Amino acid sequence: MLKGEIFEFQAETKKLLDIIINSIYTNKEIFLRELISNASDALDKVRFKLTQGEDVYQKELPLEIRITTDDKNKMLIVKDTGIGMTKEEIISNLGTIAKSGTEEFLKQVSSEKDQAQDIIGKFGVGFYSVFMVAKEVEVKSRSYDPKAKPVIWKSDGMGGFEVQDLDEDLSRGTEIRVYLKDDSTYFLGKEKLKSIIKTHSNFITFPIYVDGEKVNTIPALWKEPKFKIKKEQYNEFYKFLTHDPEDPLDYLHISVDAPVQFSSIVFIPKKSTVVFETYTDNYGLDLYVNRVLIQKKNKELIPNYLGFLKGVVDSSDLPLNLSRETIQENRVIQKINSTITKQVLKKLEDIAQNDKDKYNIFWKEHGKIFKLGYTDFQNREQFSKLIRFNSSRVEDENEVISLDEYISNMKEDQDEIYYISGNDRKSIENSPYLEPFKEAEIEVLYLYEPIDEFILQAISEYKGKKFKPVEHADINKIKKEKKEEQGKDLTEIQNLIKLMKDVLKDKVIDVRTTNRLTQTPVCLVSPDGKLSSQMQKIIQLINKDTSIPKQILEINPESELIKDLSKIVSNGPKDDFIEEIINHLYDTALIQNGYLPDVNELAKRSYNILDKAGKWYLKKLTSTS
Ligand code: ADP
Ligand code: MG
Repeated sequence: MLKGEIFEFQAETKKLLDIIINSIYTNKEIFLRELISNASDALDKVRFKLTQGEDVYQKELPLEIRITTDDKNKMLIVKDTGIGMTKEEIISNLGTIAKSGTEEFLKQVSSEKDQAQDIIGKFGVGFYSVFMVAKEVEVKSRSYDPKAKPVIWKSDGMGGFEVQDLDEDLSRGTEIRVYLKDDSTYFLGKEKLKSIIKTHSNFITFPIYVDGEKVNTIPALWKEPKFKIKKEQYNEFYKFLTHDPEDPLDYLHISVDAPVQFSSIVFIPKKSTVVFETYTDNYGLDLYVNRVLIQKKNKELIPNYLGFLKGVVDSSDLPLNLSRETIQENRVIQKINSTITKQVLKKLEDIAQNDKDKYNIFWKEHGKIFKLGYTDFQNREQFSKLIRFNSSRVEDENEVISLDEYISNMKEDQDEIYYISGNDRKSIENSPYLEPFKEAEIEVLYLYEPIDEFILQAISEYKGKKFKPVEHADINKIKKEKKEEQGKDLTEIQNLIKLMKDVLKDKVIDVRTTNRLTQTPVCLVSPDGKLSSQMQKIIQLINKDTSIPKQILEINPESELIKDLSKIVSNGPKDDFIEEIINHLYDTALIQNGYLPDVNELAKRSYNILDKAGKWYLKKLTSTS
């Protein structure tokens, strides 16, 4: 019996183990996928050390995974010749949870209790999944470090584990002894084991033996000629890589010889698994040099906006001793990145042209990430072709159009692409700025996310057509028939404007007439003619700036209210009532742009005006009766 040190599992680990041990998850066989995947990781790590020329214990050991069964003791052994673990490493690695994926799993489980069973397999809860089938587990390990001593770890997965130095001449690597529960002894069957490995671990790059017989057969798929690979094999490889039970939406196999040699398989998943907040740490492709894994999820191989891709890259033009620090500046890596980017953009365009439904799935699932591509100057044209927006022309807010579709639907002399930002379709459609566009039946893009306007600002034009927020559009270009201004007496309205400037003072930059409005009496527009007021507000929000910007107040001379006010101002002296109305108009326009003026003052003024309206109406009633 062991007389080692006793440790308790970390609280999170206990929680995970509790879920695993009590789970009625039927697909228990994934425990083997997890053990083999750990063995493969350990082999990848030692192979990397070897290529770096580090001092490795038992350099000459073949890199492999051996599984043996022991019917008498109802035990399964999974042994690898990988990097191994020291005592310290085994205590921290097999006692705590360091994996962000597992944390994610725990979060999901606590929020959706009943679903725990379905997602164990998808997340792959790592080493601990062995306790679905084991009543006891022993891990013996010998680190690659020549100075390290062998160590043994033992646990029944309940509360803690025991660790002790091992007085045994263990070879390099890790040996896991799984003492099977009575209901799990069918995992001793050789055919069963072979079929599990074929299902879940077929693409492991190291040989796997079951009782001496080699089981995995498929060499690095990405190195095979494309014409030899069937779609099913790609799908199988995708599932192996991602643990996604569904087939990918699409994939791309790239083999290039010049200017740099590399092969790559990248997949577009059907569903986004991205948690946006942690996204920037969680994307990338697995980087191999001549089949030696250098780094999982390497971020330098693709731009961040293609981070929804899963897959591998293998190049023989990179040095095997490539250090992770120098990857960033490596010219070959940069070249690979730009080639993959171009090919993926081309692939997306193919999909957009030939399979609109598929493209819509892509856009719905990955559009949010893809939009980050507005900073890619080199591929701006391609990027612009691929972005999608909701618009005034389509039926509902789920339908999207491309910029090419917008252009083909433009009016004959229209030379700008108009857009408006807002929280949702309903609030956008009530915006006063949209009035002339509706009347002239000119299509307007509807932007719902802050990034959308950044995109249009950054790309600034498409096929020679500039992007323009509706509130800055030149209304004379929009209006169908230009109304004759002549014969109208403009002095009355000039009087009103003068008074408005007096009353509002530095709250506004200017007051002027506009013909952009049909019903609404006034609106506010930002002065620079570039940012929409919506965008300005978003920037303020980001900067935690709650001030109210100085804007231009535009008044609609066709509005009955404005006409009346002009007459009143021109006929009488300045009085408090008119001043109140002017302030009220301004505040109302502010509210329409999403700003909150002083509400108490606004309320007081409202009551005052209503009071006057009431008195006036009563007088009117009594005088006619
Ligand atoms: P993950 O593999 O995602 O890190 P696991 O729970 O599967 O999470 O494994 C936890 C850790 O235990 C691994 O990161 C690794 O450091 C260590 N480990 C597990 N199995 C082995 C092994 N066969 N050889 C060396 N280290 C291992
Ligand atoms: Mg693992």
